[in-house]
Amino acid sequence: MRSLGICEVKTTSQIPDEPYDSWVTQLYWQMGLAKLAYPEANIRGTILAVDLNTGDIREFNGFTPSEVIFDMLIDKAHNIWAAVNGESTPDCEPSLLCGFCEFREDCPVFNRDNLPEDVWKTVHLFAQLKEQRDELETKLEPLKESILKYIGTNKFSATNSDLGLTVTVMAPRLAEFVDNKRLKEELPDIFEQYKQIREYPASLRVYHKKTKSNGGE
Ligand code: SF4
Repeated sequence: MRSLGICEVKTTSQIPDEPYDSWVTQLYWQMGLAKLAYPEANIRGTILAVDLNTGDIREFNGFTPSEVIFDMLIDKAHNIWAAVNGESTPDCEPSLLCGFCEFREDCPVFNRDNLPEDVWKTVHLFAQLKEQRDELETKLEPLKESILKYIGTNKFSATNSDLGLTVTVMAPRLAEFVDNKRLKEELPDIFEQYKQIREYPASLRVYHKKTKSNGGE
């Protein structure tokens, strides 16, 4: 019996712990189509995720064709084709990709208050990496203190060409600033005359919500 291996290659900026649903769906498509072409073949599928920033590669394997899933995907394809021909409205499925969709404002199923699974997976990945970063920062701080203890806090620069490293120290400095709150209260005209408006990009916070059982509200 002929054996066939299907490999779905995905490039990403961070490899998740589990493959995204859209990746898995695409693999089931490929395996289902291969099964139609080679019904007798022993078909196996794998997803190869490549992190474009770090060069890391991770394989998610062990997939085999599923008639049930393939039939669902065929129904979906019929639905899309009918929608393309103006015969029906598409059964849209919100996903992370909605972030790039130009029809989002009018889309009947896009809903910020009900995040799809792959968005939650990305939030989870973000939280895990943030925890790793926090752990690293905790380890970096005592190293920094040890180095500064030796070198001192005056302006300094040194290079080790064998290691290809340069270390510099910026001496402590004073910064002047204006107390905006007081200026606005006590000299509002001056505040208005000199104020500048700066736009900051949206910020994102991901954190573990405190519950009564872990000491929170
Ligand atoms: S916003 Fe709507 S139309 Fe656009 S990708 Fe998401 S579900 Fe599809």
